[in-house]
Amino acid sequence: MSDIFVVIEHRLGELREISLQMLTKADELAQSMSAGVTAVLLAGAEDGFEDQIAARADRLIVCRHDRLKNYDSDWSTELLSRMLAEHRPFLTLIGHTPWGLDLAPALAVRTGWPLATDCLEIAVTDRRPEVIRQIYGGKMFARVHLLGTPGYLLTVRPGAFPAEQIQRGPAHVINLEVPADLAPSRREVLEYVDSSAGEVDITQAELLVSIGRGVGDEENILLVKELADLMGGTLSCSRPVVDKHWLPKAHQVGTSGKSVKPKVYLALGISGAFQHLAGITGAGLVIAVNKDEKAPIFRAADYGAAADLFEVVEALKEKLKG
Ligand SMILES: Cc1cc2nc3c(=O)[nH]c(=O)nc-3n(C[C@H](O)[C@H](O)[C@H](O)COP(=O)(O)OP(=O)(O)OC[C@H]3O[C@@H](n4cnc5c(N)ncnc54)[C@H](O)[C@@H]3O)c2cc1C
Repeated sequence: MSDIFVVIEHRLGELREISLQMLTKADELAQSMSAGVTAVLLAGAEDGFEDQIAARADRLIVCRHDRLKNYDSDWSTELLSRMLAEHRPFLTLIGHTPWGLDLAPALAVRTGWPLATDCLEIAVTDRRPEVIRQIYGGKMFARVHLLGTPGYLLTVRPGAFPAEQIQRGPAHVINLEVPADLAPSRREVLEYVDSSAGEVDITQAELLVSIGRGVGDEENILLVKELADLMGGTLSCSRPVVDKHWLPKAHQVGTSGKSVKPKVYLALGISGAFQHLAGITGAGLVIAVNKDEKAPIFRAADYGAAADLFEVVEALKEKLKG
């Protein structure tokens, strides 16, 4: 019982980024405890995700059926609980996503194994997972030890870990048939309706120019937007900016917004509350501009300027224009 299972997630024929993030973390954990990584793929007959997964796992268990093209709650729960009972992995990672939020509690009930949700950090000490997760709506971080005998189930916050180009495989591929005794599913996905259609997707941006309350006024956002456009970046923000209806919710970074992983995160007039910082743990280079040199954002920043953000914005625009 030493394998780490990763439940692969996909939607509309595309592998979800969370799958690669979990495989990266699983690889790191597996190295620390001399374990193997098994990716579990439930997919449609024509879905071809193997190439992206095979290099990142030691084993790939694939079950294909047209019914599994879209997430099927009943079949996924049934198939995965049978696989977990048979293979008894030490640890199973599932995305903390709408898919995972449906699946993980059902698997915990079926297996009787402990489940910790929304994990931001995962370590294994003394053959037990120890995780950090947020509680009380993001006000506190809790360090949680999972007790009992293995296996353990965890859901992983999207963006909590990077998706790196790891090399474990090529995975040994095991193809499974859908068992003949599987009861018909009681639900069917008819179509996906994207609630954020047309909205900006800050989770995919490589450069985020992010504004906080320090921007002062809605009108000033235009000045920063000009800079973001000149830099080829995307505008994001802290929660007060959304609360004041200066930018739509889709732009918000943090515990009650999105976790982001840009190569560069330029924070302008953001104090650096932990609810905000939790959303940028996956960011590459963090650059902060704040007129208060004691602002906590500077502790999370690689580069900082204790300065008026508008002076910095104007200086950068001049430089880029000229
Ligand atoms: C349950 C819960 C969930 C939350 N979720 C989130 C979340 O997802 N995301 C989030 O961001 N927050 C979240 N918050 C709110 C969080 O606690 C902070 O209140 C918020 O992040 C502060 O935003 P801010 O840094 O923009 O504003 P402030 O804390 O008011 O900071 C503004 C900063 O701007 C600086 N400043 C002012 N003028 C200038 C200027 N001209 N030039 C340079 N700097 C200037 C100031 O020095 C100050 O540091 C949450 C809170 C709770 C309770």
